[in-house]
Amino acid sequence: MPYVTDEPRHAGPLLAGLDLERLRHTVRSGTTLGLDRRREHLAALRRLVVEHEDEINAAVTADVGKPALEVRLTETWTTVQEIDHLVAHLDRWTAPRPVSVPVTLQPASARIQLQPKGVVLVIAPWNYPVQLLLTPLAGALAAGNTAVLKPSEVTPRVAALLTRLVPQHLPPEVVQVVTGGVPETTALLEQRFDHIVFTGSTEVGKVVMRAAAEHLTPVTLELGGKSPAFVDATMDADVVARRLAWGKFTNAGQTCIAPDYVLVTPEAREPLLTALEEAVRAFFGADPRTSTDLGRIVNGRHHDRLVGLLDGHGGEVVVGGEHDAQDRHYVAPTVIADPDPSSPLMQEEIFGPILPVVTVADAEAGVEFVRAREHPLALYVFSSDEQVRRTFEQRTTSGGMTIGAPLLHIVAPDLPFGGVGASGMGAYHGRASVEEFSHHRSVLVKPGTPDTLGVVYPPHPGWKRAAITRLMAPLRRPDPLAPVRAAGRALRGRRRGSS
Ligand code: NAD
Repeated sequence: MPYVTDEPRHAGPLLAGLDLERLRHTVRSGTTLGLDRRREHLAALRRLVVEHEDEINAAVTADVGKPALEVRLTETWTTVQEIDHLVAHLDRWTAPRPVSVPVTLQPASARIQLQPKGVVLVIAPWNYPVQLLLTPLAGALAAGNTAVLKPSEVTPRVAALLTRLVPQHLPPEVVQVVTGGVPETTALLEQRFDHIVFTGSTEVGKVVMRAAAEHLTPVTLELGGKSPAFVDATMDADVVARRLAWGKFTNAGQTCIAPDYVLVTPEAREPLLTALEEAVRAFFGADPRTSTDLGRIVNGRHHDRLVGLLDGHGGEVVVGGEHDAQDRHYVAPTVIADPDPSSPLMQEEIFGPILPVVTVADAEAGVEFVRAREHPLALYVFSSDEQVRRTFEQRTTSGGMTIGAPLLHIVAPDLPFGGVGASGMGAYHGRASVEEFSHHRSVLVKPGTPDTLGVVYPPHPGWKRAAITRLMAPLRRPDPLAPVRAAGRALRGRRRGSS
């Protein structure tokens, strides 16, 4: 029997149509334990995306203003890749994992069994409205769960389309969709789920975690923040600038792991700024407004927020700076050199096509800059110097990291994706999804004969005490590996001292 909570609650008028009990029953009845059934669900999800790709892409373009190729790459293609990866490895990733048993418990065997958690709630943001709703769903289904999807209200066409398409491909005892904004999500969060995957802002992440605490529901929080990039003079400035411009200006900077700002050493500063200006021209032409490869800002509120960041930053505008609310909330790809560190531009998550470049003395100062702030979702290091790369790897923490490029760690199917600290908790994608959305049950099997437990049953006469004392003897003996451990500690200390 899979692990799944009961306690049906009345969903209330805001959640009309939601039937959580039906979703719970599917898991509790054991139908999703079979891998064939899970593969069927994943195949149905794949068909939904493939058969309606054009409609989906049109809805995303209309809601978010992304160029068509970008939508295909980052929404539908990414989702299908994830489904295929899960299907290809489902047997191996879900198989019970035998573990060893100490001699004191023999004869016995032990294993870790992955069980469906139950009903998973997926709450998605607007910036990748399909991928960030359907890839967590794929993981939840692969792990044998059922799910409720809550698309973002900021992308109403995508929400309406998925509300129509999901029931055409997946039955309501497996997946249901709830639409709406804050009131509906608040009502949804009052219900009892077995896992919640939330992708969105750090502030709302706290709201979700508070609501989940009421039911002790585990959460995966995929949040945001300011993801830094460090650049020194050891890599080709043109390559670095092109990669940074691509990572930053994809989806007009509305990407959770886009480089939020750049830390640059004094020697690398001028070549990088010149190369960034050239990269913007090469990608989007002399007037980026006319480029069909540049996305738009999702709505007037975010446009005005970005225009606010363009005022009073105290830095030098190297390229860009233009904006036009009437032209589908246009904000030009913008590079700003050395803004005031206390300006909102350097305090808030930018989430738009504005790239501040801040000069730091060296890698050490870059590390200190990063460490003085919340743990970012992503960190990028552009340096050919092994020592510099190692310093960032060892002395900073972030959800993920790519060395030599932005964004790419999210694309590698076997790398778990998630944040740490203020940028989130838990991780998913591929195997990590199956792990995250499963309960890991420890199972030990002890045969009835011989009854080796007889030694611990009372009464405890002298021979039993002697036998138990002998078994426990290693506790009192000095640790035979102590010298080896001490030597290891000393070696690590010396390495740290020399780095
Ligand atoms: P958001 O937090 O405003 O909204 C996300 C979801 O939460 C939406 O479905 C919305 O309906 C719901 N919501 C909003 N306010 C709520 C409230 N008070 N109570 C309950 N539910 C509420 O985020 P957004 O603006 O849609 O997305 C942008 C943010 O998401 C950025 O911070 C970005 O970095 C982050 N993000 C993170 C990832 C990641 O994978 N870590 C991916 C994309 C975006």
